[in-house]
Amino acid sequence: MEISRKTSAVRLKPYKNRRDFRKSPEPRLYTPHKERSNIFVIQKHDAARLHYDFRLEVDGVLVSWAIPKGISDVPNEKHLAIRTEDHPLEYADFEGAIPEGQYGAGTVEIWDKGTYQLLELKGARQALKNGALKFILKGQKSKGVYALVRIRELKNSGKEQWLIFRIADK
Ligand code: MN
Repeated sequence: MEISRKTSAVRLKPYKNRRDFRKSPEPRLYTPHKERSNIFVIQKHDAARLHYDFRLEVDGVLVSWAIPKGISDVPNEKHLAIRTEDHPLEYADFEGAIPEGQYGAGTVEIWDKGTYQLLELKGARQALKNGALKFILKGQKSKGVYALVRIRELKNSGKEQWLIFRIADK
């Protein structure tokens, strides 16, 4: 499926609106990618509160969650994951320091990176809508079958709470 520039642009509006690219070194530009490479990345983000940002490439953007404790490789150990705004694909390579006073101020480093294989017949968008997503991570540190399950939508903030956990190998 081809990914239109407009679709990515619309999805990335919240990302752009929150940032001042004259002050933040974060990626400002994005290129629409026609081919799927199924990237995933986990970035350690030492912001006001240390957390890990988990991102999956879906339709030319990185669908993202902030995970306070990071992901666990212990099967069924559920960690809270808060859905955040979609990020440009270029963000998967980003490491650096976001200056004081800027959104997400603090340092970002790549904790793990690789590819993932979706285990959803109807595709990632539908699974995100339904609030349940199963996939295989093929990273340096993170390997195996994982699931993300939405537990609640916070009405006033628009944020969604999910749980991420590993599923035991058979
Ligand atoms: Mn973050």
